[in-house]
Amino acid sequence: MARIAYVNGRYRPHADAAVPVEDRGYQFADGAYEVCEVRGGRLVDERRHMQRLRRSLGELRIAEPMSFAALSVVMHETVRRNRVVDGIVYVQVTRGVAARDFAFPPPQCARSVVVTARSLNRSSIDAIAAAGVAVVTLPENRWPRVDIKSVSLLPNVLAKQTAREHGAREAWFVDAEGFVTEGTSSNAWIVTADAMVVTRPADSLILRGITRTVLVDVLKAQGFELVERAFTREEAYGAREAFITSASQILTPVVRIDGRLVADGQPGPIARALRRGFHRHAEFS
Ligand code: PMP
Repeated sequence: MARIAYVNGRYRPHADAAVPVEDRGYQFADGAYEVCEVRGGRLVDERRHMQRLRRSLGELRIAEPMSFAALSVVMHETVRRNRVVDGIVYVQVTRGVAARDFAFPPPQCARSVVVTARSLNRSSIDAIAAAGVAVVTLPENRWPRVDIKSVSLLPNVLAKQTAREHGAREAWFVDAEGFVTEGTSSNAWIVTADAMVVTRPADSLILRGITRTVLVDVLKAQGFELVERAFTREEAYGAREAFITSASQILTPVVRIDGRLVADGQPGPIARALRRGFHRHAEFS
């Protein structure tokens, strides 16, 4: 079945789905995006993802391209047309198409909106989580506004590739003081020896993950103690458990960091319990 993308008002097969060469997303990465999980044909935490998109656009001073109610219809329709039951829906908004100039185009320039949807193999994601993944650490080299979910992702691309070349699924960025910020496409967590669940506060140096936000509720419901503070790479090496969170993978245990085993090298019981409990606290639409 040909995949269908929504591009500026039209649903088109991917082969014909295109934006003009002077789209500012293509020229400058001048845009923002969101990725929502699709589960059982429904969107997971759409409301929170749309709130974050609104915030990202506001921070970038990109006017909202359409009502969020209309955008929701497009997202659901894109999922339906692609017959996605389990997978993701992707939304991208750029500042639009204009003669190439760093400064903003005139306000009447229409923003570009692209929505795509894709099936993911749920059982292979579950198998990866059951085995746990390796991460490598790399120096933080992104701009200090990664709280904005911008499509400017070159450091993330390069770091993810380095991870892959080291047999790891994710790279954790480490700031100049030795503290882990987050993964290239996920938030980073550890569990300490006394069973505290630790993740970095959501300031401008990490993305406030929607999965992270929902997991805070899961932690409370399951009676675990959350501490929002930065942790160092060395602390992570010695952690009782470690894991990463993102919309497409939910929660994935980390069993190896820079080649060192985390605890006994098996996914930990707290990470497994949190993963199992996650969708009871998510919103479906
Ligand atoms: N940090 C970064 C840099 C990301 O790209 C992502 C995934 N979008 C996350 C964290 C996790 O965010 P979410 O839980 O909303 O997918």
